[in-house]
Formats: sequence, C-alpha cells, structure tokens
Amino acid sequence: MRTRNKPWAKDRLDEFPSIVPAIPQEHKGKWNAVFGNDNPIHIEVGMGKGQFITGMAVQNPDVNYIGIELSESVAVVALDKMIEADVPNVKLLTINAEILADVFEPGEVDRVYLNFSDPWPKTRHEKRRLTFKKFLDLYKTVLPENGEIHFKTDNRGLFEYSLWSFSQYGMLLKYVSLDLHKSDFEGNIMTEYEEKFSAKGQPIYRCEVQYQE
Ligand code: SAM
Repeated sequence: MRTRNKPWAKDRLDEFPSIVPAIPQEHKGKWNAVFGNDNPIHIEVGMGKGQFITGMAVQNPDVNYIGIELSESVAVVALDKMIEADVPNVKLLTINAEILADVFEPGEVDRVYLNFSDPWPKTRHEKRRLTFKKFLDLYKTVLPENGEIHFKTDNRGLFEYSLWSFSQYGMLLKYVSLDLHKSDFEGNIMTEYEEKFSAKGQPIYRCEVQYQE
C-alpha cells in the first residue's frame, strides 16, 4: 500500500493502548481477557487502512477482530476509523505476520482474513506472498483444527497461485467466486482496495478454504 511515511504515526498509535496494545506478545493466550469476553477472534493479515476490519466489527458485535499491519503509517489511518466507530471489539497490531506464533497460542484465532494481499508477481518473490506455504504453516499454528482462511483479491495471478498453494497444502475449498460483486454472497464489507479496483470494473475473486488434519 503506497502511503507517505508519517514519522508521528508511532506516537499517535501509542496514545491509544486500548485499541493498540503496546506489547502484543504479552497477551499471548490471553486475548479473550483483553476483549473481556469469550467471543471468537478473527484476524485480518495486511489490514491496510482498516475499512474492512472496522466494518466487520460494527456488523458483528459478537466477534472480536484484530487487524494486523506491518506499516505504522498505514495502521494510523485504520486507528482513526476504529476511534470513530467506537466499538469495543476491534484492535490493531503493528507487527509483521511472520511473528504471529509469538502473539497467539495455538487455536486462539478462529479465522484468518486475507484481503488484496500484495501480489509479488515475480517468481523470486514467491516467499513474500501471504499465501505462500510458510504463511499457511503460521496461520495453521494459531488456528484451531479445521480453521479457515477467507481470501479476496482483484489480482488474477495471485488468486490462481493461492488456489494452487492451498491445494498443495491439502486444504478444502469451501467457497469460490470469480466475481464476488455479482455473486449471491451476502454481508460483504469492502476494503479500500476493493472499492478502488471494483470501481474500475475489475472482478473481485474470493474463496474460503479450510485446513484438514
Ligand atoms: N487489506 C487492505 C485492503 O484490501 O485495502 C490492504 C491491502 S494492501 C495491498 C496490503 C497490506 O498488507 C499493506 O498495507 C502491507 O503493509 C500489508 N502487509 C504486507 N505484508 C505483511 C506482513 N507480512 N505482515 C503484516 N502486514 C503486511
């Protein structure tokens, strides 16, 4: 996501510890206590500017949401949306998804969302794609048995690669759409990228996949 560097972003994020826990690793195994309930926890990896995760939190008050975003300059935009929404069931973490297993106990996350992940089209960058085997291993570590990934993108190449990667991993394809906005899928919350690309007439690809033992 192209956003100018905001040197003040970290200070701003630190001002809201109720939304941005300072040391996420300290809450490993105790995220339900952070939210103050036993509701399921859904995470979005590569949350960007937060429209999806905040919208989902408003739409589904009985689910706890955690947005994960590498860039503080991007996450600070999501923070403003969360402050404005003023709901207790959404938090954000400015971490690299590579440390997910340091932040969540096995089975602590009930669902992983990936939305418009960076496509990294060059073969030599395959390892950076959020649907590369290494990341599928990580999500599996924090999800329960038969946990699910819900994935959407405008990028046909990334979608094709990801279906292949999920299949190589032995995952079950539970739902697939090659044109989400013309499908019968209900309750879709658009991301910032989704709004941008669908406005240009590009179809949105979406799938739900489930880990098998
Ligand atoms: N999901 C948002 C949307 O649909 O509007 C943002 C999409 S943007 C193309 C991808 C985002 O993923 C970027 O903001 C990037 O910083 C973040 N990202 C990429 N790799 C990541 C990683 N390993 N851990 C956390 N965030 C990551």
